[in-house]
Amino acid sequence: MKIPQYLQIKLASLGITDLKDQLINEGYLNLFAKLRLAYPSLGYNALFDLYKINTGKNIPFSNDLKQKLILEFKSLPPIYPLLPEASIRFYLNEAEKQAHFALGKNEVPIGAVIVHEGKIIGKGYNQTRTKQDILCHAEIQAIREAQIYLDNFRLDNCDIFVTLEPCLMCSGAIIHSRIRRLVFGALEPKTGACISQHQVFANKKTNHHCQVIGPIDQAHFSELISNFFREPSNL
Ligand SMILES: [Zn+2]
Repeated sequence: MKIPQYLQIKLASLGITDLKDQLINEGYLNLFAKLRLAYPSLGYNALFDLYKINTGKNIPFSNDLKQKLILEFKSLPPIYPLLPEASIRFYLNEAEKQAHFALGKNEVPIGAVIVHEGKIIGKGYNQTRTKQDILCHAEIQAIREAQIYLDNFRLDNCDIFVTLEPCLMCSGAIIHSRIRRLVFGALEPKTGACISQHQVFANKKTNHHCQVIGPIDQAHFSELISNFFREPSNL
């Protein structure tokens, strides 16, 4: 089967000139995953085309076969672009600035930012006491802002940076909003839902897989919060 031109161009941009050879080495699923990484909006038609090229048969596709291929792709472990150490430090520092806003309002100092294509599109800090609203965690505030910015409740290709390990509610919101990656500063031993008390992101049955990176610097990012609770009036 002839390789469609749209696919040829994208493959060439990744330095792949011998598709047959690449398919033998990587398989159609991994190759599609690699293309999706470079072209996040690439549709499943590319997966179907790669499958056809791999099998050498230009057969009509049944819905069952399409669904089978999509499921096979979704069951692959997710692959993500590398996140440089400097970026992690920079965005966590931005999240920490948000935590300081919370502290200024006598709130538990937790901050979060959401990054899309290198730009911060959502910021948030904990405001549960001020607003008397348990939903006003830093992550939820940042998610709301990012949703408005993108005009979309799905935050595809977004990364969230939080000073502290998210709770059960925020971990759920991160998964539902399809955030690609979560980076957090310090573990939260009492309510953390990534590692400490629950391992929400380790559940392979969830529809969306979010990469979790953290704790980045336990001593540094737990200090703000420990100092806050050292003050008896804040307990
Ligand atoms: Zn939370």
